[in-house]
Amino acid sequence: MNKPFVYLIGAGPGDPGLITVRGRECLERSDVVLYDYLANHRLLEYAPPHAELIYSGKVGGAHNREQGQINDLMVAKALEGKVVARLKGGDPFVFGRGGEECEALVANRIPFEVVPGVTAGIGAAAYAGIPLTHREVTTSVAFVTGHEHPDKESSEIDWEKLSLGSGTVVFYMGVRNLPQITTNLMAHGRSPETPVALVRWGTRPEQEVLTGTLADISEKARKASFKPPAVTIVGEVVRLRQTLRWFDNRPLFGKGILVTRAADQAGEFSDLLRAQGASVFECPTIRIVPPEDPSGLDAAIASLPDFQWLILTSVNAVRQFFLRLAHHRLDSRAMGRCRVCAVGPKSAAAIREHGIIPDLVPVDYKAEGVVAAFRELDMAGMKVLFPKADKARDLIPLELAKLGATVVAPVAYHNLPPVALPPEVLEALERRQIHCATFTASSTVRNLAELVGENRLLHLLEGVTIAAIGPITAATCRELGLEVQIEPEKYTLEAMTETIVQHFSR
Ligand code: SAH
Repeated sequence: MNKPFVYLIGAGPGDPGLITVRGRECLERSDVVLYDYLANHRLLEYAPPHAELIYSGKVGGAHNREQGQINDLMVAKALEGKVVARLKGGDPFVFGRGGEECEALVANRIPFEVVPGVTAGIGAAAYAGIPLTHREVTTSVAFVTGHEHPDKESSEIDWEKLSLGSGTVVFYMGVRNLPQITTNLMAHGRSPETPVALVRWGTRPEQEVLTGTLADISEKARKASFKPPAVTIVGEVVRLRQTLRWFDNRPLFGKGILVTRAADQAGEFSDLLRAQGASVFECPTIRIVPPEDPSGLDAAIASLPDFQWLILTSVNAVRQFFLRLAHHRLDSRAMGRCRVCAVGPKSAAAIREHGIIPDLVPVDYKAEGVVAAFRELDMAGMKVLFPKADKARDLIPLELAKLGATVVAPVAYHNLPPVALPPEVLEALERRQIHCATFTASSTVRNLAELVGENRLLHLLEGVTIAAIGPITAATCRELGLEVQIEPEKYTLEAMTETIVQHFSR
Protein backbone atom coordinates (compact mmCIF):
# COMPACT_ATOMS: atom_id res chain seq x y z
CA MET A 1 0.00 0.00 0.00
CA ASN A 2 1.16 3.52 -0.74
CA LYS A 3 1.77 5.89 2.12
CA PRO A 4 -1.10 8.18 3.11
CA PHE A 5 -0.45 11.85 2.59
CA VAL A 6 -2.56 15.00 2.56
CA TYR A 7 -1.78 18.31 0.92
CA LEU A 8 -3.85 21.16 2.25
CA ILE A 9 -3.71 23.49 -0.70
CA GLY A 10 -4.76 27.11 -0.98
CA ALA A 11 -6.43 27.51 -4.37
CA GLY A 12 -6.22 31.29 -4.29
CA PRO A 13 -9.17 33.64 -4.62
CA GLY A 14 -10.53 32.61 -8.02
CA ASP A 15 -8.30 33.55 -10.92
CA PRO A 16 -6.78 30.12 -11.65
CA GLY A 17 -3.42 31.77 -12.33
CA LEU A 18 -3.19 32.70 -8.66
CA ILE A 19 -2.57 29.20 -7.33
CA THR A 20 1.06 28.76 -6.23
CA VAL A 21 3.56 26.69 -8.20
CA ARG A 22 3.73 24.33 -5.23
CA GLY A 23 -0.05 24.07 -5.06
CA ARG A 24 -0.19 23.04 -8.69
CA GLU A 25 2.61 20.48 -8.25
CA CYS A 26 0.74 18.90 -5.34
CA LEU A 27 -2.51 18.74 -7.30
CA GLU A 28 -0.65 17.05 -10.14
CA ARG A 29 0.41 14.20 -7.89
CA SER A 30 -2.90 13.63 -6.08
CA ASP A 31 -5.13 10.54 -6.20
CA VAL A 32 -8.11 12.26 -4.60
CA VAL A 33 -9.08 15.92 -4.73
CA LEU A 34 -11.52 17.21 -2.14
CA TYR A 35 -12.46 20.68 -3.32
CA ASP A 36 -14.74 23.35 -1.97
CA TYR A 37 -17.16 25.90 -3.38
CA LEU A 38 -14.74 28.82 -3.47
CA ALA A 39 -11.85 26.98 -5.14
CA ASN A 40 -11.98 27.63 -8.88
CA HIS A 41 -13.05 24.35 -10.43
CA ARG A 42 -10.86 24.97 -13.45
CA LEU A 43 -7.92 24.06 -11.22
CA LEU A 44 -9.19 20.47 -11.23
CA GLU A 45 -7.68 20.19 -14.71
CA TYR A 46 -4.30 19.89 -12.99
CA ALA A 47 -5.33 16.69 -11.23
CA PRO A 48 -4.19 13.55 -13.04
CA PRO A 49 -6.84 11.72 -15.10
CA HIS A 50 -7.12 8.89 -12.57
CA ALA A 51 -7.80 11.24 -9.65
CA GLU A 52 -11.13 11.01 -7.88
CA LEU A 53 -12.72 14.46 -7.63
CA ILE A 54 -15.02 15.00 -4.68
CA TYR A 55 -16.99 18.18 -4.09
CA SER A 56 -17.14 19.12 -0.43
CA GLY A 57 -18.91 22.36 -1.13
CA LYS A 58 -20.22 24.80 1.33
CA VAL A 59 -22.46 27.47 0.00
CA GLY A 60 -23.05 30.34 2.39
CA GLY A 61 -24.17 28.42 5.44
CA ALA A 62 -26.00 25.67 3.53
CA HIS A 63 -23.24 23.20 4.13
CA ASN A 64 -23.19 20.45 1.63
CA ARG A 65 -21.19 18.32 3.99
CA GLU A 66 -20.58 19.14 7.60
CA GLN A 67 -17.01 19.87 8.57
CA GLY A 68 -16.84 16.64 10.59
CA GLN A 69 -17.83 14.63 7.54
CA ILE A 70 -15.20 16.38 5.43
CA ASN A 71 -12.53 15.58 8.01
CA ASP A 72 -13.64 11.94 8.16
CA LEU A 73 -13.64 11.58 4.39
CA MET A 74 -10.20 13.16 4.09
CA VAL A 75 -8.82 10.86 6.77
CA ALA A 76 -10.50 7.77 5.29
CA LYS A 77 -9.18 8.43 1.78
CA ALA A 78 -5.68 9.04 3.11
CA LEU A 79 -5.76 5.85 5.17
CA GLU A 80 -6.56 3.94 1.96
CA GLY A 81 -3.01 4.86 1.01
CA LYS A 82 -3.95 7.72 -1.23
CA VAL A 83 -2.44 11.12 -1.78
CA VAL A 84 -5.24 13.51 -0.95
CA ALA A 85 -5.29 17.10 -2.17
CA ARG A 86 -7.59 19.17 0.00
CA LEU A 87 -8.17 22.17 -2.23
CA LYS A 88 -9.59 25.18 -0.43
CA GLY A 89 -10.46 28.67 -1.64
CA GLY A 90 -7.96 31.40 -0.77
CA ASP A 91 -5.57 30.34 1.97
CA PRO A 92 -6.35 27.21 4.00
CA PHE A 93 -5.49 28.84 7.31
CA VAL A 94 -7.47 32.05 6.84
CA PHE A 95 -11.09 31.51 7.88
CA GLY A 96 -10.87 28.20 6.09
CA ARG A 97 -11.07 25.73 8.99
CA GLY A 98 -7.75 24.39 7.74
CA GLY A 99 -6.57 24.33 11.32
CA GLU A 100 -9.31 21.89 12.29
CA GLU A 101 -8.55 19.71 9.29
CA CYS A 102 -4.90 19.53 10.28
CA GLU A 103 -5.87 18.61 13.83
CA ALA A 104 -7.87 15.67 12.45
CA LEU A 105 -4.81 14.59 10.46
CA VAL A 106 -2.53 14.82 13.47
CA ALA A 107 -5.01 12.80 15.54
CA ASN A 108 -4.86 10.07 12.89
CA ARG A 109 -1.07 10.32 12.46
CA ILE A 110 -1.42 11.20 8.80
CA PRO A 111 1.49 13.24 7.45
CA PHE A 112 0.55 16.45 5.65
CA GLU A 113 1.84 19.62 4.05
CA VAL A 114 0.16 23.02 4.02
CA VAL A 115 0.47 25.01 0.81
CA PRO A 116 -0.53 28.61 1.45
CA GLY A 117 -2.69 30.49 -1.00
CA VAL A 118 -3.55 34.06 -1.90
CA THR A 119 -6.33 34.84 0.53
CA ALA A 120 -9.48 36.55 -0.77
CA GLY A 121 -8.80 39.77 1.15
CA ILE A 122 -5.48 40.19 -0.59
CA GLY A 123 -6.57 38.92 -4.01
CA ALA A 124 -9.85 40.80 -4.21
CA ALA A 125 -8.24 44.03 -2.99
CA ALA A 126 -5.49 43.78 -5.60
CA TYR A 127 -7.95 43.12 -8.44
CA ALA A 128 -10.15 45.97 -7.24
CA GLY A 129 -7.16 48.34 -7.39
CA ILE A 130 -7.11 48.88 -3.62
CA PRO A 131 -3.68 48.68 -1.92
CA LEU A 132 -4.46 47.43 1.59
CA THR A 133 -1.68 49.57 3.00
CA HIS A 134 -0.13 52.73 1.62
CA ARG A 135 2.65 54.80 3.18
CA GLU A 136 0.65 57.97 2.99
CA VAL A 137 -2.70 56.54 4.00
CA THR A 138 -2.41 53.71 6.48
CA THR A 139 0.15 51.44 8.06
CA SER A 140 -1.98 48.55 9.27
CA VAL A 141 -4.57 46.09 8.04
CA ALA A 142 -6.78 43.64 9.90
CA PHE A 143 -8.64 40.58 8.58
CA VAL A 144 -11.82 39.94 10.51
CA THR A 145 -14.68 37.50 10.20
CA GLY A 146 -18.01 39.15 9.62
CA HIS A 147 -19.81 35.89 10.11
CA GLU A 148 -20.07 36.16 13.83
CA HIS A 149 -23.30 37.86 14.73
CA PRO A 150 -22.05 41.21 15.99
CA ASP A 151 -25.06 41.79 18.22
CA LYS A 152 -24.49 38.87 20.45
CA GLU A 153 -23.06 39.70 23.82
CA SER A 154 -20.31 37.15 23.56
CA SER A 155 -18.90 38.85 20.45
CA GLU A 156 -15.23 38.09 20.35
CA ILE A 157 -14.53 41.11 18.22
CA ASP A 158 -13.33 44.05 20.26
CA TRP A 159 -15.17 46.68 18.22
CA GLU A 160 -13.59 49.61 19.93
CA LYS A 161 -10.05 48.43 19.28
CA LEU A 162 -10.91 47.34 15.78
CA SER A 163 -12.63 50.59 14.84
CA LEU A 164 -9.73 52.78 15.87
CA GLY A 165 -6.81 50.36 15.99
CA SER A 166 -6.42 49.31 12.40
CA GLY A 167 -6.24 51.57 9.40
CA THR A 168 -7.74 49.13 6.93
CA VAL A 169 -10.21 46.46 8.01
CA VAL A 170 -11.18 43.59 5.73
CA PHE A 171 -14.25 41.59 6.64
CA TYR A 172 -14.79 38.11 5.25
CA MET A 173 -18.27 36.56 5.16
CA GLY A 174 -19.72 39.92 6.10
CA VAL A 175 -22.35 40.67 3.46
CA ARG A 176 -25.32 39.49 5.53
CA ASN A 177 -24.16 41.33 8.62
CA LEU A 178 -23.18 44.50 6.82
CA PRO A 179 -25.66 46.76 8.70
CA GLN A 180 -24.38 45.56 12.08
CA ILE A 181 -20.75 45.80 11.02
CA THR A 182 -21.03 49.38 9.80
CA THR A 183 -23.14 50.43 12.79
CA ASN A 184 -20.63 48.93 15.18
CA LEU A 185 -17.67 50.61 13.53
CA MET A 186 -19.37 54.01 13.59
CA ALA A 187 -20.62 53.55 17.16
CA HIS A 188 -17.04 52.89 18.24
CA GLY A 189 -15.56 55.98 16.69
CA ARG A 190 -14.92 55.31 13.01
CA SER A 191 -16.05 58.25 10.87
CA PRO A 192 -19.24 57.69 8.86
CA GLU A 193 -17.36 59.18 5.89
CA THR A 194 -14.86 56.28 5.86
CA PRO A 195 -14.86 54.77 2.37
CA VAL A 196 -15.94 51.14 1.98
CA ALA A 197 -15.72 48.72 -0.94
CA LEU A 198 -17.52 45.42 -1.33
CA VAL A 199 -15.74 43.09 -3.73
CA ARG A 200 -17.73 40.09 -4.88
CA TRP A 201 -16.12 37.17 -6.71
CA GLY A 202 -12.86 39.10 -6.65
CA THR A 203 -10.21 38.20 -9.28
CA ARG A 204 -12.81 36.40 -11.41
CA PRO A 205 -14.40 37.63 -14.64
CA GLU A 206 -17.61 38.06 -12.63
CA GLN A 207 -15.97 40.46 -10.16
CA GLU A 208 -18.37 43.14 -8.89
CA VAL A 209 -17.32 46.10 -6.81
CA LEU A 210 -19.66 48.37 -4.91
CA THR A 211 -18.25 51.44 -3.15
CA GLY A 212 -19.71 53.82 -0.62
CA THR A 213 -19.08 54.99 2.94
CA LEU A 214 -19.72 53.47 6.33
CA ALA A 215 -22.86 55.59 6.45
CA ASP A 216 -24.42 54.48 3.18
CA ILE A 217 -22.89 51.17 2.02
CA SER A 218 -25.48 48.95 3.74
CA GLU A 219 -28.33 50.72 2.04
CA LYS A 220 -26.52 50.66 -1.30
CA ALA A 221 -25.84 46.93 -0.96
CA ARG A 222 -29.46 46.27 -0.07
CA LYS A 223 -30.72 48.23 -3.08
CA ALA A 224 -28.30 46.43 -5.39
CA SER A 225 -29.19 43.04 -3.82
CA PHE A 226 -25.47 42.56 -3.39
CA LYS A 227 -24.79 38.89 -2.69
CA PRO A 228 -21.93 36.90 -1.15
CA PRO A 229 -19.20 35.82 -1.55
CA ALA A 230 -17.59 39.18 -1.01
CA VAL A 231 -15.02 40.88 1.13
CA THR A 232 -15.77 44.24 2.70
CA ILE A 233 -12.82 46.61 2.71
CA VAL A 234 -13.08 49.54 5.11
CA GLY A 235 -10.56 52.40 5.14
CA GLU A 236 -9.19 55.44 3.39
CA VAL A 237 -7.21 53.21 0.97
CA VAL A 238 -10.48 52.43 -0.81
CA ARG A 239 -10.26 55.89 -2.44
CA LEU A 240 -7.14 54.78 -4.33
CA ARG A 241 -9.30 52.57 -6.53
CA GLN A 242 -10.34 55.63 -8.48
CA THR A 243 -6.84 55.95 -9.88
CA LEU A 244 -5.49 52.41 -9.51
CA ARG A 245 -8.33 50.41 -10.98
CA TRP A 246 -6.86 48.07 -13.61
CA PHE A 247 -8.80 44.82 -13.82
CA ASP A 248 -12.53 45.42 -14.03
CA ASN A 249 -12.09 48.29 -16.50
CA ARG A 250 -10.35 46.21 -19.16
CA PRO A 251 -12.07 46.53 -22.53
CA LEU A 252 -13.65 43.07 -22.57
CA PHE A 253 -14.38 42.87 -18.85
CA GLY A 254 -17.81 41.39 -18.24
CA LYS A 255 -18.07 40.09 -21.81
CA GLY A 256 -18.64 36.40 -22.33
CA ILE A 257 -16.78 35.16 -25.41
CA LEU A 258 -17.17 31.78 -27.02
CA VAL A 259 -14.01 30.23 -28.44
CA THR A 260 -14.67 27.40 -30.85
CA ARG A 261 -11.20 26.15 -31.66
CA ALA A 262 -9.88 22.60 -31.52
CA ALA A 263 -9.49 21.52 -27.93
CA ASP A 264 -5.71 21.61 -27.95
CA GLN A 265 -5.52 24.96 -29.73
CA ALA A 266 -8.01 27.07 -27.86
CA GLY A 267 -5.56 28.06 -25.14
CA GLU A 268 -3.66 30.74 -26.94
CA PHE A 269 -6.71 32.59 -28.23
CA SER A 270 -8.44 32.28 -24.87
CA ASP A 271 -5.39 33.77 -23.16
CA LEU A 272 -5.37 36.73 -25.54
CA LEU A 273 -9.04 37.39 -24.82
CA ARG A 274 -8.66 36.92 -21.08
CA ALA A 275 -5.82 39.44 -21.06
CA GLN A 276 -8.41 41.95 -22.26
CA GLY A 277 -10.73 40.99 -19.41
CA ALA A 278 -13.06 38.64 -21.25
CA SER A 279 -14.83 35.73 -19.65
CA VAL A 280 -13.95 32.93 -22.03
CA PHE A 281 -16.05 29.85 -22.71
CA GLU A 282 -14.22 27.18 -24.64
CA CYS A 283 -16.26 25.03 -26.92
CA PRO A 284 -14.03 22.73 -28.92
CA THR A 285 -15.76 22.19 -32.25
CA ILE A 286 -12.97 20.34 -33.93
CA ARG A 287 -11.30 17.10 -33.18
CA ILE A 288 -8.22 16.63 -35.29
CA VAL A 289 -7.69 12.97 -36.05
CA PRO A 290 -5.18 11.23 -38.33
CA PRO A 291 -6.57 10.01 -41.66
CA GLU A 292 -8.51 6.78 -41.62
CA ASP A 293 -6.62 5.70 -44.68
CA PRO A 294 -3.08 7.09 -44.57
CA SER A 295 -1.98 5.31 -47.76
CA GLY A 296 -1.93 8.50 -49.86
CA LEU A 297 0.20 10.30 -47.31
CA ASP A 298 2.43 7.25 -46.88
CA ALA A 299 3.03 6.97 -50.63
CA ALA A 300 3.99 10.65 -50.76
CA ILE A 301 6.34 10.23 -47.78
CA ALA A 302 7.95 7.22 -49.48
CA SER A 303 8.77 9.38 -52.51
CA LEU A 304 9.69 12.57 -50.65
CA PRO A 305 12.97 13.09 -52.56
CA ASP A 306 10.91 13.56 -55.77
CA PHE A 307 9.22 16.70 -54.46
CA GLN A 308 10.55 20.24 -54.88
CA TRP A 309 7.94 21.86 -52.64
CA LEU A 310 6.02 20.99 -49.52
CA ILE A 311 3.09 23.22 -48.52
CA LEU A 312 1.80 23.15 -44.97
CA THR A 313 -1.19 25.39 -44.42
CA SER A 314 -1.82 25.02 -40.70
CA VAL A 315 -0.30 23.93 -37.43
CA ASN A 316 -2.44 20.80 -37.71
CA ALA A 317 -0.98 19.99 -41.10
CA VAL A 318 2.53 20.45 -39.72
CA ARG A 319 1.79 18.29 -36.69
CA GLN A 320 0.10 15.48 -38.61
CA PHE A 321 2.74 15.45 -41.35
CA PHE A 322 5.60 15.12 -38.87
CA LEU A 323 3.68 12.55 -36.81
CA ARG A 324 3.36 10.42 -39.92
CA LEU A 325 7.06 10.89 -40.72
CA ALA A 326 7.85 9.79 -37.18
CA HIS A 327 5.57 6.78 -37.66
CA HIS A 328 7.93 5.70 -40.45
CA ARG A 329 10.89 6.43 -38.16
CA LEU A 330 11.80 9.44 -40.28
CA ASP A 331 12.48 13.05 -39.34
CA SER A 332 12.95 16.35 -41.16
CA ARG A 333 16.11 15.08 -42.87
CA ALA A 334 13.85 12.92 -45.03
CA MET A 335 12.81 16.08 -46.83
CA GLY A 336 16.27 16.65 -48.28
CA ARG A 337 16.30 19.72 -50.49
CA CYS A 338 12.54 19.99 -50.75
CA ARG A 339 11.52 23.62 -50.17
CA VAL A 340 8.85 24.39 -47.62
CA CYS A 341 6.00 26.86 -47.79
CA ALA A 342 4.36 27.72 -44.44
CA VAL A 343 1.01 29.45 -44.48
CA GLY A 344 0.70 31.87 -41.59
CA PRO A 345 3.17 32.71 -38.82
CA LYS A 346 1.91 29.91 -36.55
CA SER A 347 2.57 27.23 -39.16
CA ALA A 348 5.96 28.81 -39.82
CA ALA A 349 6.79 28.64 -36.10
CA ALA A 350 5.63 25.02 -35.93
CA ILE A 351 7.89 24.14 -38.88
CA ARG A 352 10.85 25.93 -37.29
CA GLU A 353 10.39 23.72 -34.25
CA HIS A 354 11.37 20.83 -36.51
CA GLY A 355 14.59 22.62 -37.39
CA ILE A 356 13.39 23.76 -40.80
CA ILE A 357 13.40 27.38 -41.91
CA PRO A 358 10.46 27.87 -44.27
CA ASP A 359 11.46 29.09 -47.74
CA LEU A 360 8.18 30.83 -48.36
CA VAL A 361 5.69 32.40 -45.93
CA PRO A 362 3.02 34.15 -48.01
CA VAL A 363 1.95 37.50 -46.55
CA ASP A 364 -1.69 36.72 -47.27
CA TYR A 365 -2.79 33.51 -45.54
CA LYS A 366 -5.82 32.79 -47.69
CA ALA A 367 -5.50 30.11 -50.35
CA GLU A 368 -5.59 32.93 -52.94
CA GLY A 369 -2.62 34.56 -51.22
CA VAL A 370 -0.67 31.32 -51.33
CA VAL A 371 -1.35 30.93 -55.03
CA ALA A 372 -0.33 34.55 -55.65
CA ALA A 373 2.98 33.94 -53.87
CA PHE A 374 3.67 30.90 -56.06
CA ARG A 375 2.81 32.87 -59.17
CA GLU A 376 5.96 34.91 -58.53
CA LEU A 377 8.03 31.73 -58.84
CA ASP A 378 8.71 29.44 -61.77
CA MET A 379 6.52 26.44 -60.97
CA ALA A 380 6.64 24.72 -64.36
CA GLY A 381 7.52 21.03 -63.92
CA MET A 382 7.70 21.30 -60.13
CA LYS A 383 6.35 18.49 -58.00
CA VAL A 384 4.44 19.82 -55.02
CA LEU A 385 3.30 17.93 -51.92
CA PHE A 386 0.25 19.44 -50.24
CA PRO A 387 -0.90 17.40 -47.22
CA LYS A 388 -4.35 18.73 -46.44
CA ALA A 389 -7.44 18.41 -44.30
CA ASP A 390 -10.15 16.17 -45.77
CA LYS A 391 -12.54 19.09 -46.18
CA ALA A 392 -9.99 21.64 -47.43
CA ARG A 393 -10.76 23.65 -50.56
CA ASP A 394 -9.07 22.51 -53.77
CA LEU A 395 -8.02 25.97 -54.86
CA ILE A 396 -4.31 25.59 -54.15
CA PRO A 397 -3.79 22.31 -56.06
CA LEU A 398 -5.96 23.48 -58.98
CA GLU A 399 -4.23 26.83 -59.37
CA LEU A 400 -0.72 25.42 -58.93
CA ALA A 401 -1.50 22.85 -61.63
CA LYS A 402 -2.39 25.75 -63.92
CA LEU A 403 1.11 27.12 -63.26
CA GLY A 404 2.53 23.87 -64.58
CA ALA A 405 3.18 22.09 -61.28
CA THR A 406 2.22 18.53 -60.45
CA VAL A 407 0.43 18.62 -57.13
CA VAL A 408 -0.03 15.62 -54.86
CA ALA A 409 -2.60 16.41 -52.16
CA PRO A 410 -3.10 13.47 -49.80
CA VAL A 411 -5.43 13.74 -46.83
CA ALA A 412 -3.25 14.28 -43.76
CA TYR A 413 -6.00 14.68 -41.15
CA HIS A 414 -9.72 14.89 -40.59
CA ASN A 415 -11.61 17.73 -38.89
CA LEU A 416 -14.36 16.00 -36.99
CA PRO A 417 -17.04 17.56 -34.82
CA PRO A 418 -16.80 16.74 -31.11
CA VAL A 419 -19.18 14.34 -29.54
CA ALA A 420 -21.17 16.88 -27.50
CA LEU A 421 -21.40 20.53 -26.53
CA PRO A 422 -19.92 21.09 -23.06
CA PRO A 423 -22.87 21.59 -20.66
CA GLU A 424 -21.46 24.81 -19.18
CA VAL A 425 -21.29 26.32 -22.68
CA LEU A 426 -24.87 25.39 -23.46
CA GLU A 427 -25.99 26.83 -20.14
CA ALA A 428 -24.09 30.08 -20.75
CA LEU A 429 -25.64 30.37 -24.21
CA GLU A 430 -29.11 29.77 -22.89
CA ARG A 431 -28.61 32.27 -20.08
CA ARG A 432 -27.38 34.86 -22.57
CA GLN A 433 -24.03 35.10 -20.81
CA ILE A 434 -22.18 34.91 -24.10
CA HIS A 435 -21.90 38.21 -25.96
CA CYS A 436 -19.62 37.20 -28.79
CA ALA A 437 -19.01 33.92 -30.62
CA THR A 438 -15.71 33.55 -32.45
CA PHE A 439 -14.99 31.31 -35.40
CA THR A 440 -11.44 30.72 -36.61
CA ALA A 441 -12.16 28.32 -39.46
CA SER A 442 -15.14 27.30 -41.58
CA SER A 443 -15.10 23.90 -39.93
CA THR A 444 -15.63 25.47 -36.50
CA VAL A 445 -18.91 27.00 -37.71
CA ARG A 446 -20.05 23.92 -39.59
CA ASN A 447 -19.23 21.56 -36.78
CA LEU A 448 -21.01 23.72 -34.25
CA ALA A 449 -24.08 23.75 -36.49
CA GLU A 450 -23.85 19.98 -36.85
CA LEU A 451 -23.50 19.60 -33.14
CA VAL A 452 -26.55 21.60 -32.09
CA GLY A 453 -28.59 21.61 -35.31
CA GLU A 454 -28.82 24.58 -37.69
CA ASN A 455 -32.08 25.96 -36.34
CA ARG A 456 -31.04 25.71 -32.76
CA LEU A 457 -27.73 27.34 -33.64
CA LEU A 458 -29.55 30.43 -34.91
CA HIS A 459 -31.68 30.48 -31.81
CA LEU A 460 -28.74 30.05 -29.42
CA LEU A 461 -26.72 32.75 -31.18
CA GLU A 462 -29.56 35.23 -31.50
CA GLY A 463 -28.27 38.66 -30.49
CA VAL A 464 -24.74 37.32 -30.09
CA THR A 465 -22.02 39.23 -31.97
CA ILE A 466 -20.36 36.95 -34.50
CA ALA A 467 -16.63 37.24 -35.18
CA ALA A 468 -15.03 35.37 -38.10
CA ILE A 469 -11.28 35.28 -38.67
CA GLY A 470 -11.41 35.72 -42.43
CA PRO A 471 -13.70 35.97 -45.46
CA ILE A 472 -14.03 32.23 -46.02
CA THR A 473 -15.09 31.59 -42.45
CA ALA A 474 -17.40 34.61 -42.65
CA ALA A 475 -18.99 33.23 -45.81
CA THR A 476 -19.65 29.92 -44.07
CA CYS A 477 -21.28 31.81 -41.20
CA ARG A 478 -23.53 33.65 -43.64
CA GLU A 479 -24.45 30.41 -45.44
CA LEU A 480 -25.75 29.16 -42.11
CA GLY A 481 -27.74 32.36 -41.58
CA LEU A 482 -25.40 34.07 -39.15
CA GLU A 483 -24.68 37.75 -39.62
CA VAL A 484 -20.97 38.52 -39.18
CA GLN A 485 -20.18 41.77 -37.35
CA ILE A 486 -16.48 41.33 -36.68
CA GLU A 487 -13.90 40.49 -39.34
CA PRO A 488 -10.24 41.42 -38.80
CA GLU A 489 -8.13 42.67 -41.69
CA LYS A 490 -5.31 40.27 -40.88
CA TYR A 491 -6.18 36.63 -40.33
CA THR A 492 -4.41 36.18 -37.02
CA LEU A 493 -5.67 35.58 -33.50
CA GLU A 494 -3.99 38.80 -32.37
CA ALA A 495 -5.78 40.84 -35.04
CA MET A 496 -9.03 39.07 -34.24
CA THR A 497 -8.65 39.95 -30.54
CA GLU A 498 -7.89 43.56 -31.37
CA THR A 499 -10.92 43.84 -33.66
CA ILE A 500 -13.17 42.36 -30.97
CA VAL A 501 -11.80 44.90 -28.47
CA GLN A 502 -12.48 47.73 -30.93
CA HIS A 503 -15.99 46.47 -31.54
CA PHE A 504 -16.86 46.37 -27.85
CA SER A 505 -15.16 49.67 -27.03
CA ARG A 506 -17.38 51.51 -29.46
N1 SAH B 1 -9.94 30.63 3.11
C1 SAH B 1 -10.59 31.65 2.33
C2 SAH B 1 -11.75 32.30 3.07
C3 SAH B 1 -12.90 31.40 3.28
S1 SAH B 1 -14.20 32.17 4.14
C4 SAH B 1 -9.56 32.71 1.93
O1 SAH B 1 -8.45 32.68 2.42
O2 SAH B 1 -9.88 33.51 1.08
C5 SAH B 1 -15.27 32.59 2.82
C6 SAH B 1 -15.26 34.06 2.56
O3 SAH B 1 -14.11 34.40 1.81
C7 SAH B 1 -16.40 34.57 1.70
O4 SAH B 1 -17.56 34.75 2.48
C8 SAH B 1 -15.84 35.87 1.22
O5 SAH B 1 -15.92 36.84 2.23
C9 SAH B 1 -14.40 35.52 1.03
N2 SAH B 1 -14.09 35.18 -0.37
C10 SAH B 1 -13.62 34.03 -0.85
N3 SAH B 1 -13.38 34.12 -2.16
C11 SAH B 1 -13.70 35.38 -2.52
C12 SAH B 1 -13.66 36.10 -3.73
N4 SAH B 1 -13.24 35.54 -4.87
N5 SAH B 1 -14.04 37.40 -3.72
C13 SAH B 1 -14.46 37.99 -2.59
N6 SAH B 1 -14.53 37.35 -1.41
C14 SAH B 1 -14.16 36.06 -1.38
